[in-house]
Amino acid sequence: MIYQRSSQLFAEAKKYIPGGVNSPVRAFNAVGGEPIFIKEAKGAYLYDEDGNQFIDYINSWGPMILGHAHPKVIDALIEKAKKGTSFGTPTEIETEIAKLAVKMVPNIDQIRMVNSGTEACMSAVRLARGYTKRDKIIKFAGCYHGHSDTFLIQAGSGAVTFGEPNSPGVTQGTAKDTLLANYNDIENVKQIVSENQNEIACIILEPVAGNMGCIPPKGDFLQQLRQVCDENGILLIFDEVMTGFRLAQGGAQELFEIKADIMTFGKVIGGGLPVGAFAARQEIMDHLAPLGSVYQAGTLSGNPLAMAAGLKMLQELHQQPEIYQSINEKTAYLREGLQKVLTENEVTFTINQIGSMISVHFSDQEMKDFESAKSGNNERFKKFFHGMLKEGVYIAPSAFETWFISEAVSYGDLDFTIEAARKVTADGF
Ligand SMILES: *Cc1c(COP(=O)(O)O)cnc(C)c1O
Repeated sequence: MIYQRSSQLFAEAKKYIPGGVNSPVRAFNAVGGEPIFIKEAKGAYLYDEDGNQFIDYINSWGPMILGHAHPKVIDALIEKAKKGTSFGTPTEIETEIAKLAVKMVPNIDQIRMVNSGTEACMSAVRLARGYTKRDKIIKFAGCYHGHSDTFLIQAGSGAVTFGEPNSPGVTQGTAKDTLLANYNDIENVKQIVSENQNEIACIILEPVAGNMGCIPPKGDFLQQLRQVCDENGILLIFDEVMTGFRLAQGGAQELFEIKADIMTFGKVIGGGLPVGAFAARQEIMDHLAPLGSVYQAGTLSGNPLAMAAGLKMLQELHQQPEIYQSINEKTAYLREGLQKVLTENEVTFTINQIGSMISVHFSDQEMKDFESAKSGNNERFKKFFHGMLKEGVYIAPSAFETWFISEAVSYGDLDFTIEAARKVTADGF
């Protein structure tokens, strides 16, 4: 494939935008090479500025669960845009989407819209702190909750009681209130809780981790977390920015039958526009301004265009629940196909899959936490990524990302992808 125009555009972008990108992972730093500039997308496919076509397994990092440029979502956007794009006043459509979200997601009475997953998680933690009148939080190594200061804390092995910031600009003062635990390690959590009695406001986690590859919770990990929270007056926050409206209509709470206290959303809920949200039962949400004293606001929150896209997306998913079975089956088919060709090619691998989330790790370890995720052979991954790209298959440019399957992907596309993986991992891989 030729990437001449992408390359020119990247050179120009780098002059005016730091690193040429508006979000770092787009820059291909983890895999080497230059990013591809996408011109348009339709259904399962991306088309770049040089006219190359790719089957897309990133799907805008999750939102495009029905594929790109879904006609109903696009129509809803066009109709809405004709009526004005922002008023800074309440609008009816905000209640419509809130009502539908409350119907689809178990265990929530109210939802507040924001503009990104980062904002949702940041606000959820502030709400938990305001509600419990406690300062500390527990997060898990390898879980991503957006780029607000509280969450940018270095992943350490073992029980770490004092976090180290992993970005300059995050102060020690902030870092000291973020306690790090190991994913899928309940004993570790219990120890941290016992060492910080009556100080922990919340435990926040991805109920299925998706930012260290795809790592599902093991055994009764989530139930045990629920129990620890109940016994210690701690709020359980499920960061469902990735899993919400994807693993099921009601997200991970529905799939695992666990009730969290606060949930955060993003990605799918915006239908491809910048949206995040957080939700809880009434008694907790009553603490938010303007009812309560926990402040949270946004000039463009609940923006009509964003709500139009999000509402149409949720309506489609709500009206056709069979979509979930369909994407889950497609993803299982992809897993089986990849397992077969990688085994035939004698490649060492572990594949994790749950619902429409899947990741391939070039490691023979069980993938259960950040430590095991780091054991993957990154040189292999780079080769795999660039090989697949050359075949016309676009997976995320990092070994620590999950692939997302959209309903637009056909079995023909999946077969093509499996065959590409066979070629890429053949002799000498
Ligand atoms: C993407 C993501 C976020 C951050 O959302 P942004 O919209 O990028 O700010 C937070 N949590 C999880 C689990 C995510 O996958």
